[in-house]
Amino acid sequence: MPEYICTMGPSILNTEKIVELYQLGLRTIRFNMSHIDYDIAEVLQMIRDAERIVGNKISTMLDTCGSEIRVQMDRPRTLLIGDTLTLGEELTLNVPYHNILELGDVLKIDDGKIIVKVISKNPFLLSSLTNGKIKNGSGVFSEKLSRTLTFIPEKDTKSFHLAFHNDMDWVACSFVKSAEDIKNVKALRSQYPNCKTKIMAKIETREAMEDLDNIIAISDGIMIARGDLGVAFPIYMITTLQNYIAGKVIAAGIPLTIGTGFLRSMKRNPIPEKAEVSDLYYAFTLTNSIMFSGETAVADEPANILKTANSIFKTLEDSKQKDKIYEKIFL
Ligand code: PEP
Repeated sequence: MPEYICTMGPSILNTEKIVELYQLGLRTIRFNMSHIDYDIAEVLQMIRDAERIVGNKISTMLDTCGSEIRVQMDRPRTLLIGDTLTLGEELTLNVPYHNILELGDVLKIDDGKIIVKVISKNPFLLSSLTNGKIKNGSGVFSEKLSRTLTFIPEKDTKSFHLAFHNDMDWVACSFVKSAEDIKNVKALRSQYPNCKTKIMAKIETREAMEDLDNIIAISDGIMIARGDLGVAFPIYMITTLQNYIAGKVIAAGIPLTIGTGFLRSMKRNPIPEKAEVSDLYYAFTLTNSIMFSGETAVADEPANILKTANSIFKTLEDSKQKDKIYEKIFL
């Protein structure tokens, strides 16, 4: 049976919803620290209440923000290909960039939907390679800037302590770059002698791919975080990367979960896109643990989404007994 990691959010913010989703395969609730608009202590209580109703444990996972680069700007701007922006005036970044970015470097903004290129350093001008809207807070990917960031920013130190203090079942570490990062998280955990929180490394950076074997060796579990991984690498590589990472994690015998974008269109629609069905069907051939983000946090009908995922899983299981599926489909 599938086991879902469901991201907490307004759509499932009560005990009844948690119980309903548990019956459909929810086994872990994820607190995405990048989008907390609820009281974690209250949700932990809801989870304990839900556990009493279902008579089983529901795991908890705190997912850190990580060192993210973000756009800072006063007002949104619509860009057309060839439009220019002055970095440092119309928009700026939350990290130092002056001595790092060079002419010709590109920044991928908002999951790569907007791409801008450095065309002058004095003044610092960016030229847009895409049409789109850029706004305050959008995430930015730049390979060069990403390499300058430390793994545990101040805000994550607080999150780690929150997870360890509450003895949450998992802490998922965002933007891990090396096995050394996981060692540092374990050092923080050792300040809580009885804490059993397991450490999950999210694979979503180029650096993590470079140190993958060591990261797998030291972590309690791995999440293939396809959202950011699909920006750090060209998007058409995502399935190859997913297979490569999954193969190594399965060989190591530690828990593997794959996240992001599986049934995204169902946040508003009652049925999935065909490509989404295919994507999830294929992921189920690698693991039965799937991480849902907006599909549970902010969807119109999270239960319908889990039911759809279960039907996809069942079709895969049935297809292993060919006669059964052909009978069902054709007769
Ligand atoms: C991802 O990038 O796929 C992911 C799970 O990270 P987050 O949603 O925290 O950005």
